Amino acid sequence: MNKNVESFMEDIIFKNPGEKEFHQAVREVAESVMPYIEKNPRYKKYKILERIAEPERVIMFRVPWLDDTGEIQINRGYRIQMNSAIGPYKGGLRLHPSVNLGILKFLAFEQVFKNSLTTLPMGGAKGGSNFDPKGKSDNEVMRFCQSFMTELQRHIGPNTDVPAGDIGVGGREIGFLFGQYRKIKNEFSGILTGKALNWGGSLIRPEATGYGAVYFAQEMLKTKKEEIKNKICTVSGSGNVAQYAVEKLNHLGGKAVALSDSSGMIYDPDGIDEKKLQFVMELKNIKRGRIKEYADKYGVKYFADKRPWGIPCDIAFPSATQNEISKNDAKKLIDNGCYCVSEGANMPTVPEGVDVFMNAKILYGSGKAANAGGVATSGLEMSQNSLRLAWSREEVDEKLHNIMVNIHKSCIKYGKDGNFINYVNGANIAGFVKVADAMIDQGLV
Ligand code: NDP
Repeated sequence: MNKNVESFMEDIIFKNPGEKEFHQAVREVAESVMPYIEKNPRYKKYKILERIAEPERVIMFRVPWLDDTGEIQINRGYRIQMNSAIGPYKGGLRLHPSVNLGILKFLAFEQVFKNSLTTLPMGGAKGGSNFDPKGKSDNEVMRFCQSFMTELQRHIGPNTDVPAGDIGVGGREIGFLFGQYRKIKNEFSGILTGKALNWGGSLIRPEATGYGAVYFAQEMLKTKKEEIKNKICTVSGSGNVAQYAVEKLNHLGGKAVALSDSSGMIYDPDGIDEKKLQFVMELKNIKRGRIKEYADKYGVKYFADKRPWGIPCDIAFPSATQNEISKNDAKKLIDNGCYCVSEGANMPTVPEGVDVFMNAKILYGSGKAANAGGVATSGLEMSQNSLRLAWSREEVDEKLHNIMVNIHKSCIKYGKDGNFINYVNGANIAGFVKVADAMIDQGLV
């Protein structure tokens, strides 16, 4: 136990009562970064870690909307503007009934380090609402998004804060949000990323997080002179990140054998090939159905209320949500031969599970590094909007790939420990240094 970390965390817990995901995220960074700060006392003198853990601004607001029966519904909206030392705030919007202040603060905090790692000029933020888009009509989702943006528009702008998608926010929601912003401001600007191609979006943005998590796994495997080809992979979730992780695995000759949603999981030992993936995309993005329908269509096994961590695999891509790999799940993965984990989701492994991976010395790519491809490509979308240019698919994919290779190199620079690469420390320290130096340069603001 590190005494400095414990007394720092006491203060964090006192100031942010009940926000357990936020405590978890801050503790993980403190454990990595505090020993580094001890060796670099200027960060201590300027109280950088204490300042980084305090949001620059928290916005909470009422989101009233009318449902299809004419009844008034009221949700709560949030935007956590965590840190803007290296660029405008940037980070997704999440629409899910579990959303609360603590979850968004954890996500905004992680975003600061992740965005810094991409080497692009983006600060960190996160936002969203406890609105549940599941089971709502398109018109209800539109009315909610319009009401949400009616307030949010006061606090964002192309040089101030540029939100994006996250759980429950895909192309449909970004469209409704953008439309309302444009109407209120009488301005067409790159205020959101994840836009459709015909009104300012970037090629490869939808694919970027999933592709990036696979590129990161590829780099980790290279350190063992291995490749994705013929590897058995399990993927959780079946949304944006999961779908494109499976697509890239197929491109590279890997075999994805599992997907899930919040109701259960499917196991397809023959692999989720391109045709089956098309079925998943239509099922999830258009019909908005349940993953069980995959099992019904292809005659494979469905396990209600289960996640794919009991299935033997070489590589696991958790791509659904936070804390979805328990300590037991982590043990099961190791016992069944898994030796590489690349986190598409944010903080999907509980701290005790991370310890299991670390002790087993597997290739463990934590979310800040492994899923940074999404926000990196959002950064590329912002650049294209500013230039009023659109890059080709190949250009964006190549830039994304290079960014993931460079993030991997940064993790090695700060995380190499003998023959072992501690990607958690590598990502946390590399992300910290750039933001910390910028904060010192800019004085006490
Ligand atoms: P989507 O909403 O597209 O998909 C989320 C998937 O995870 C769905 O299959 C959903 O199931 C499942 N899921 C959500 N919550 C839970 C839960 N509590 N328990 C079990 N399953 C759950 O989201 P994304 O794919 O965009 O995001 C997935 C993860 O990746 C999140 O952690 C997000 O923060 C992270 N991420 C996303 C980025 C992006 O670019 N989109 C960028 C970086 C990280 P169901 O359909 O039943 O709701």
